[in-house]
Amino acid sequence: MQKSRVIKLINVSKSYKIGKTKFDILKNISLEIFAGEYIIIFGPSGCGKSTLLNIISGLETVDDGKVQIRGEDITKLSQNELAKYHRTKVGMVFQQFNLIKNLDVVDNVALPQVFAGIGIRRRRKRAMKLLKEFELDKLAKNLPTEMSGGQQQRVAIARSLVNNPWILIADEPTGNLDSKAASEVMELFKNLNEKAKRTVLMVTHNPEYVYYAHRVLYMRDGKIIKEVVNHDIRNLNSGKDENLDRYKYVEKDLTESEIDTRKIVDEIMSENKLRNFSEGEYRRLIRVADDRKNKKITEVELMEIVDRPFKDGGVGLYKRTAEKVALALEDKFALMIPVEEPKENTESKISPEKIAQFYDKSNFVVKDINRVKKDGEEISIRKNIGGAPAEASSPAEQKEDAEKINIKSEI
Ligand code: ADP
Ligand code: MG
Repeated sequence: MQKSRVIKLINVSKSYKIGKTKFDILKNISLEIFAGEYIIIFGPSGCGKSTLLNIISGLETVDDGKVQIRGEDITKLSQNELAKYHRTKVGMVFQQFNLIKNLDVVDNVALPQVFAGIGIRRRRKRAMKLLKEFELDKLAKNLPTEMSGGQQQRVAIARSLVNNPWILIADEPTGNLDSKAASEVMELFKNLNEKAKRTVLMVTHNPEYVYYAHRVLYMRDGKIIKEVVNHDIRNLNSGKDENLDRYKYVEKDLTESEIDTRKIVDEIMSENKLRNFSEGEYRRLIRVADDRKNKKITEVELMEIVDRPFKDGGVGLYKRTAEKVALALEDKFALMIPVEEPKENTESKISPEKIAQFYDKSNFVVKDINRVKKDGEEISIRKNIGGAPAEASSPAEQKEDAEKINIKSEI
């Protein structure tokens, strides 16, 4: 099936003049976004993200280049036509919610339809339908100031959808929310993209959110410096795994950071069909994953703790599962690369050097290597993770293991 292109920018440049000085804000930007894609733009403050979004949404004009929306170059539109495009084809959500303070929720949501010339009763009906979908209908008569930030932002999202726009643009939509409300807003965008098939273009500063997107565009100094395709999105799309509901109790004692980490852990469990973790193992896995996410431990330590027996303070997973989980966590976290240090999103397998370092530090390995030496046969040192006694492994298994980690127990 041919992918349908919603947004195409060709060599777009934009500058601002302050006094006599010209500042180049966007420098020759080209990009393409297809229907149903979820794109996140990531980059330091002032690099031109909002300017780019505003150009795509028809709020700002360009100095040079083409901005094609479903094939039509909006830089060629008259002011009126551009305003109409902005009001009917684009839904926008901002960090500051931008709700009208003296209008109640239902009229805030209904407002954008005024410009589409729809009568008040139909406007309110449509607004109520959206509010119901967002489980906000009980707040319909509230003023924005009577609601939490998270609720206000959900109202703003409902408003952005009221004219059935082609493109949903969100400029740091979680920037003013606590982490729980932010997670809810992110889940909402995820649903809008997956279930309602909306094309989403979002700017965020939170590296934890990049894995929501199909593609992440990294911007810096007016240019797109890198694009990362998130291959895991397919798994993300497979939906929630009901099997994980039995761990609900865990929610109570999670930190804010762990709440986000938990989602990653859940995805890994779903993707790998891991169903038999005890609640304790699950809780510990979230904690150790969170430590890794926050760089409190190294990737080698992560692997070691995931594998270490539960009674010794580890997660206590079976070796192969431990390795699978640790590597999957590394992959997920690898997507959250700060833009300051561009890295390619190549496969982030733990390097053989790191593994070797780990084994160098481990008493068990020394002991087992001695034993191996004495017995005069090679076994895979990978068998010793976490201090379990070296198992006798078949030559075929040893070969496979050695190939996987690309090192041999050299003695
Ligand atoms: P970001 O959203 O990435 O933080 P912006 O697109 O808001 O960046 O702004 C990029 C740069 O353009 C900033 O240096 C900002 O000060 C400047 N800028 C944005 N809008 C205007 C404007 N209307 N007039 C002059 N300079 C502007
Ligand atoms: Mg901005």
